[in-house]
Amino acid sequence: MLTGKKILVGVTGSVAAYKSALLVRLLVKAGADVKVIMTADAAQFITPLTLSTLSGKPVLLNLSENDSWSNHVMLGRWADLFVIAPLSCNTLAKMANGLCDNLMLAVYLSSTCKVMVAPAMDEDMWHHPSTKSNIEKIKSFGNEILPVSFGSLASGLTGEGRMAEPEDILKFIAQSVRTKRDLAGKKVLITAGPTYEPIDPVRFIGNHSTGKMGFALAKQCVERGAEVTLVTGPVSHTDLVGVNTIRVQTAQEMFDAAVKAFHEVDIAILSAAVADFKVVNPASEKIKKKDGLTIELEKNPDILKHLGSIKQKQTVVGFALETQNEEANALKKLNDKNADLIVLNSLKDAGAGFGTDTNKILIFDKKGNQHKFDLKSKSEVAVDILNTIIQYEKD
Ligand code: C5P
Repeated sequence: MLTGKKILVGVTGSVAAYKSALLVRLLVKAGADVKVIMTADAAQFITPLTLSTLSGKPVLLNLSENDSWSNHVMLGRWADLFVIAPLSCNTLAKMANGLCDNLMLAVYLSSTCKVMVAPAMDEDMWHHPSTKSNIEKIKSFGNEILPVSFGSLASGLTGEGRMAEPEDILKFIAQSVRTKRDLAGKKVLITAGPTYEPIDPVRFIGNHSTGKMGFALAKQCVERGAEVTLVTGPVSHTDLVGVNTIRVQTAQEMFDAAVKAFHEVDIAILSAAVADFKVVNPASEKIKKKDGLTIELEKNPDILKHLGSIKQKQTVVGFALETQNEEANALKKLNDKNADLIVLNSLKDAGAGFGTDTNKILIFDKKGNQHKFDLKSKSEVAVDILNTIIQYEKD
């Protein structure tokens, strides 16, 4: 199942470290080439001897040993996947903040492969706001967080926070390394988020887009080997590892950045919710309440339509967020904007659209095909969109 795959297993200080022995055993049995890194705290819970015996290689503990330096950069590059299991609260906080006081963190910071973590902690620690925010932060860096399970904890209490079982971690790993690198060598442009059109220095016209779909697409493209330029309006997501992120405010800025990147790319996916109108002559000083306010608007450039009109070899993909006559409007958009594919999501579908973690889509392509999908997480929807684009290019 994992023959020839190079897996780096990181073990941190947690009672769940005893399960790492089984994980290493399962990985080796599945044919993987396994190296283990431990923190000093982890070695209090399980001995390096156990893990080196099971992996068949010396366990790595320190940045330097007997005057020789451990090459953390090459270790991070060697691996196809870095799995940190268990991930303690302490190492999580360090990863979230870029600390580098041991070999594991140095390898983490310099790794070019995908990083997967299996948190393990007591329920109260797991639910602490700082843990939640650190998890969100490392997720936004592109790391995959495995779910914790419910059950008896080291404290004697019962609750959430148990590390995923080694058999389940193995399944996640197998699924992850199966991810096809079918976009290797391809360049992809993605637009995401809203645009803000200034009224004066403090006010703007915007919308509810959060950029989740565009960021999920960017992450998926990078994982599948593409070189990605993500032009995003104002969103709260931090930059994804390996993605060239260009942050803009207005539709005009998004237009300029997208047009500049477009000539070089093979695929353009325009998921941004671009404001249709901008303010004519925004005020340079804050408009006073007493002055009253009349706003004159003019049309913004349509980025998708423009790229559709100048495209050569590129596959251009647009989105349609509709509230009525969904399919007819989406098909009209496909033609009017000369797109190759259009992804329809309806605001009428529960769980689809702005700010949700899920989406339900229907894709139309220029060759007359229609692809319908169930309600799924936005990262699964990103997989469906990319599979459909790749299939379209092949047909
Ligand atoms: O015309 P409508 O806004 O419904 O079209 C939606 C699609 O067009 C989306 O893919 C969106 O990113 C793109 N669009 C654009 N520039 C605009 C308006 C929409 O790229 N000014």
